[in-house]
Amino acid sequence: MKGMKERLVKKIKLITTVKTLKHGLALHKSNIDRTIHHLRDEIVAESGQSKSCVTPTLLELEDAEEQSLEEERGLLLEFEENCPPGGEDSVVFYTTGLRGVRKTFEACRRVRFLLENHKVMFRERDVSMDSEFREEMWRLLGGKVTSPRLFIRGRYIGGAEEVVALNENGKLKKLLQGISQVDSPCESCENERFLICSSCNGSSKVLVDHHVEESSNNDKVWTRCRECNENGLVKCPLCT
Ligand SMILES: [Zn+2]
Ligand SMILES: [Zn+2]
Repeated sequence: MKGMKERLVKKIKLITTVKTLKHGLALHKSNIDRTIHHLRDEIVAESGQSKSCVTPTLLELEDAEEQSLEEERGLLLEFEENCPPGGEDSVVFYTTGLRGVRKTFEACRRVRFLLENHKVMFRERDVSMDSEFREEMWRLLGGKVTSPRLFIRGRYIGGAEEVVALNENGKLKKLLQGISQVDSPCESCENERFLICSSCNGSSKVLVDHHVEESSNNDKVWTRCRECNENGLVKCPLCT
């Protein structure tokens, strides 16, 4: 009898346990269901939200871009308008390849290095290779200044000191925003900036007919080639 009672108690306990378990499971299930529902609701809400969010996000990005473009334009406006030939929408860099004056040569190299570092296309005008470039630079700046001199989009930026400072405070990057990036060397001159004149083969002299009056003789004389500069070079039309 005692044993039976004990078994009964055990059974009841077991039933209770099972009940509790089932109840617990049922509770748990409803919790899970609720969680799933909740998650689903959240996902729906999120996707709904993200759907309505896609456009504003893009707009916001465009706004930010426009704002930074405006900021850059504003920054550029702080510089004096002074446009070298062909420099309306490009970077023009007057430099020298002559090592004669070390300070000038080093300064030019520094500016060129910065421009290359920003990977932008720039027109490089070596005043030691072409007197027209030197005169152009002097005319633009109203005096016999030395290179380097940098112009961006028709505005005078400065010499080495100014360009280095602008690079350090992050403004050079902004000023160069929107300028085409370089992906390969110039297709016309491989970045030599000049081509050897094909009319005189780089001698800068050509033989021309010389008519002597009252004479049937046609002498030939050497004369300065009109196609190239004093060094027998033609400026690359794409990158100078
Ligand atoms: Zn070129
Ligand atoms: Zn020539």
